[in-house]
Amino acid sequence: MSPLITGRPLDGRTAVVTGASSGMGAATAHRLAALGASVAIVARRQDRLAALAEDITTAGGTVLPLTVDVTDRAAVQAAADEVANELGQADLVFNNAGVQLISAIDELKVDDWQRQIDLNVTGVMNVIAAFLPHLTAAADRGGPADLINTSSIAATRILEKFSVYSGTKAYISHLTRLMRVELGQKNVRVSAIEPGMVDTELPDHVVDTDASTMMAALLRDIDCLRGDDIAEVVGFITSLPRHVNLSELTILPTAQPL
Ligand code: NDP
Repeated sequence: MSPLITGRPLDGRTAVVTGASSGMGAATAHRLAALGASVAIVARRQDRLAALAEDITTAGGTVLPLTVDVTDRAAVQAAADEVANELGQADLVFNNAGVQLISAIDELKVDDWQRQIDLNVTGVMNVIAAFLPHLTAAADRGGPADLINTSSIAATRILEKFSVYSGTKAYISHLTRLMRVELGQKNVRVSAIEPGMVDTELPDHVVDTDASTMMAALLRDIDCLRGDDIAEVVGFITSLPRHVNLSELTILPTAQPL
């Protein structure tokens, strides 16, 4: 997508993007920096973060790469402290890292279940715990404060073999609704984005043949979303005046039927 938002509406803001080493996170980190935010980029693959940091710096942005496994609560807290020291407290958190591992429930792939729960649920909660004090402080100072959690259309769609992945994303969507009740009163905006098929590395981890075939067909047959599309939406949500909270957004490729 060509950029739609103009100017630098995020000047002076400090963003944190998890899952920034590829896909939606990488594109969003780039876009938030172009819109004026200083951006902390968080993921495990150091080489990818270094390359992205170089791109953002070359484009004139300010970036802090942080090699962190978000399932490690202490490491996430240390990252939050580093963000505060290096860039100032965060006022925009794109809580996005996630993994999709598809299997029939009676295959009992319990390690895959656990990996998804550890990252998509516990990792998301670790990020909230470490950065919520930053967000409430930003809101108390009278500025905008945004927490955007990445859910999925899988949160509501009934897709065979997606039970555990969909369960983790349903958790994220409902968590977001409930958190908004409390945090909206403190002027922290809380949003869940629920994308359909985005062309990223996410399907690379899927070994189930049915699910792989279904996703490959979507990528082949329709004009799927790209990371840049999601980045523009996140830029839009966070550029709105502080009293406007887009709380739940379903973002589909136009031609995706379900
Ligand atoms: P990618 O696989 O491209 O990105 C996933 C990101 O998460 C990577 O940057 C990866 O980096 C990071 N990550 C994985 N494990 C950890 C960890 N333990 N700690 C820190 N970071 C980690 O996929 P997408 O960009 O598509 O996925 C982003 C989000 O979007 C996910 O939550 C996904 O569920 C969701 N989503 C994706 C859709 C799609 O069609 N692609 C549709 C709907 C939702 P690294 O390996 O370097 O740590």
